[in-house]
Amino acid sequence: MPRDPYEVLGVARDASAQEIKKAFRQLAMELHPDVNAHDPDAEEKFKEAAEANEILSDPERRATYDRYGHEGLRSGGYAPNFDGFGSISDLFNAFFGGAPMGARGGPAHGGDAAVAIELDLREAADGASVQVDFEAIERCEHCHGNGAEPGTPIETCERCGGAGQLQTVTRTMLGQMVRTTICETCHGDGRVPKQPCRHCRGRGRVANRRKLEVQVPAGIADGQRIRLSGQGHAGEAGAPAGDLYVAVRVREDERFLREGDDLITAVDVAAPLAALGGALEVPTLEGHASIELPVGTQPGEVLTLRGAGMPGIRRSRRGDLRVVVNVVVPRRLSEEQRELMEQLNDSLSDENLRSQESMFAKLRRALGSQAA
Ligand SMILES: [Zn+2]
Ligand SMILES: [Zn+2]
Repeated sequence: MPRDPYEVLGVARDASAQEIKKAFRQLAMELHPDVNAHDPDAEEKFKEAAEANEILSDPERRATYDRYGHEGLRSGGYAPNFDGFGSISDLFNAFFGGAPMGARGGPAHGGDAAVAIELDLREAADGASVQVDFEAIERCEHCHGNGAEPGTPIETCERCGGAGQLQTVTRTMLGQMVRTTICETCHGDGRVPKQPCRHCRGRGRVANRRKLEVQVPAGIADGQRIRLSGQGHAGEAGAPAGDLYVAVRVREDERFLREGDDLITAVDVAAPLAALGGALEVPTLEGHASIELPVGTQPGEVLTLRGAGMPGIRRSRRGDLRVVVNVVVPRRLSEEQRELMEQLNDSLSDENLRSQESMFAKLRRALGSQAA
């Protein structure tokens, strides 16, 4: 329950409007942020005083309070709300006028711009120079950013009289209740061109298509972003520009899966070749390479081609190319092949099928690869 407003302001029940006004001003001055920077409760106390003042300075509200208390005010629809004010400084300024703190923090920085590019895996591996085309806010070259048609004067803003701010009187119970806002005619500059630049309509900035060459580093991965500092939208006069973010998409390559800097591919190998071993041609980013397929290669075995993966973006070493051997059992045999296969099958013994590994080692390998 809020405190009794008479008590808050320290005035008698029959205090005159003049006495109430004086009491509030005096209390407010004691709570002024410049005087009272160290009192953590100053803001709450000021809000309480402001609320008390709102009630007692309005004759109708005061009469309602006198008869029915806070309950009566609330059921009558009165709800004080000072929460929209950022701080005690703002609140204070709302009552007594003055510049809102932090409202004029100098010219605004430019915003960040974003653009997306798409590369194939080979380009991502080699690095690429990609031209991007995006809309950026730039300084208007026709008026050199001052917003005036060249040769025409820039005058003091009539709306705000050059102050760059407007004081809006929103209530009159204290004689003044003033909120200060940035003048929307001059956007706080206090000066406006007599004849606005016809190119930018007086804004001093224009949106242009900008082309830029982006150097994409070798080894970039899908989803990474490149930041080009200062290449975003222009700031207001004197303020730095924003950044440009280039979102990189790397198109999927049906030959390779990427795992970090390693590439993985699968190569079909006919069962007889897997048994015999020999040279095996495998796809690489650059084309093809020949690797040695060991005698007796089993389905799912992985051969590694060192340094044939992706370059590391922050490392000098390239990743590896891992080749998964997909042993294919021949289908749709001709009569002759069928005979050969029968001869082969008849000649096979347990010795041909026995693994180098023990059963235990096999099991461990299976579990290990599962865990990995
Ligand atoms: Zn212009
Ligand atoms: Zn103005």
